[in-house]
Amino acid sequence: MGRLEGLAVVRSRIHGYGIVAQRRFAAGEVICFGDGVLWEDDEEFDDTYALILHSGDVRTGEAPDPRPQRDLFWDLADQTRWLNHSCDPNSVVEAKWVPSQHTVDAWWTARRDIEIGEEITYDYAFSAAVAEPCYCGAASCRGVIVDPEDIDKLPDDLRRRLTIKRAG
Ligand SMILES: [Zn+2]
Repeated sequence: MGRLEGLAVVRSRIHGYGIVAQRRFAAGEVICFGDGVLWEDDEEFDDTYALILHSGDVRTGEAPDPRPQRDLFWDLADQTRWLNHSCDPNSVVEAKWVPSQHTVDAWWTARRDIEIGEEITYDYAFSAAVAEPCYCGAASCRGVIVDPEDIDKLPDDLRRRLTIKRAG
């Protein structure tokens, strides 16, 4: 696989490996597209680096719209698997179901201007079932990697780590 243009894999200050910008990205600019492999909920696979697409959130650009009714797991199979979480991320991931190819298209867009050397991050927004402690270091860190809408469902041990009380 080729290297993602304008991006490099490095040791991250946040966790493990990370991806840093080797050029500037303007707010709204697409940073990269991911490559991945599709799995379904009831299959045995390693979901460590999978994007989880909830059935209600999956967009499709094609009509008619036979989007899957189940959650999809798109295992990132390129450098995008090293993108770290931040509670104050500089990018956002978007994904689209592509019926004709029976797969997912996913891409990361800059939420603000990104300078050379900055680590690219996005909000993993885990569901409560897979939430984990967060060490992203952002001033607005929630203390837990979790979708703010799912905070009320967190188990007690994670709820105690929260630095915010609830969604909104
Ligand atoms: Zn955080």
